[in-house]
Amino acid sequence: MGCTAEGIAGALRAAAEVIAEHRVELIELDRAIGDADHGENMHRGFTAIVSALDTAAADNPGALLKLAATTLISKVGGAAGPLYGTGFLRAATALGTASEVDSVAVAAALRAALEGVQARGKAVAGDKTMVDALIPAVSAAEAGADADIATMLEAAASAASGGAQSTVDMVARKGRASYLGERSAGHLDPGARSSALILGAFAKAASE
Ligand code: ADP
Ligand code: MG
Ligand code: MG
Repeated sequence: MGCTAEGIAGALRAAAEVIAEHRVELIELDRAIGDADHGENMHRGFTAIVSALDTAAADNPGALLKLAATTLISKVGGAAGPLYGTGFLRAATALGTASEVDSVAVAAALRAALEGVQARGKAVAGDKTMVDALIPAVSAAEAGADADIATMLEAAASAASGGAQSTVDMVARKGRASYLGERSAGHLDPGARSSALILGAFAKAASE
């Protein structure tokens, strides 16, 4: 079964809920190696996405992801807003104007999102950023693209969690945490954590 605009809206609302639940956790992770605003930034952005969805006329998956992208870009400052915004925008473009998308299309959208984040932020694997959650997530999605969307997204979310956990041992080479040098090691990257949370919410929404 494919995913329609309704499915995407549900996934974005689920992500907003999970981000709200983990707002303080994301703030504390960013306090350790950044400026303690990641939870607030993400919460502001996803609250604005929910407001936009409430009045949206968008009627296909790509259009809704584009709405999320433009909302994040306009409402969230700092590093994460433009990075997630670019990711959602590339995913939107990958889905085009199809009214229903399948697992293969969703995996391709995730790949496009990762490429967008990397094009914008220039981070590679091991730099201790959201990219370290997204790379294994995209690989898992592509490997699982012959399954239904929920199963594929569960694999992607689980891989993202593992990837986020792997940032603990890394020394940051991008973003604010890189100012700490070696002292950034021993802490989970907040953006990697939020990426895993968002994918987890998407997977849960897809399974309902
Ligand atoms: P800021 O650092 O401007 O306060 P946030 O706290 O909202 O922005 O976001 C920080 C997160 O952004 C980091 O934990 C990291 O995952 C991500 N990030 C920062 N710089 C980059 C980059 N160049 N590429 C990918 N992700 C990045
Ligand atoms: Mg910050
Ligand atoms: Mg900041």
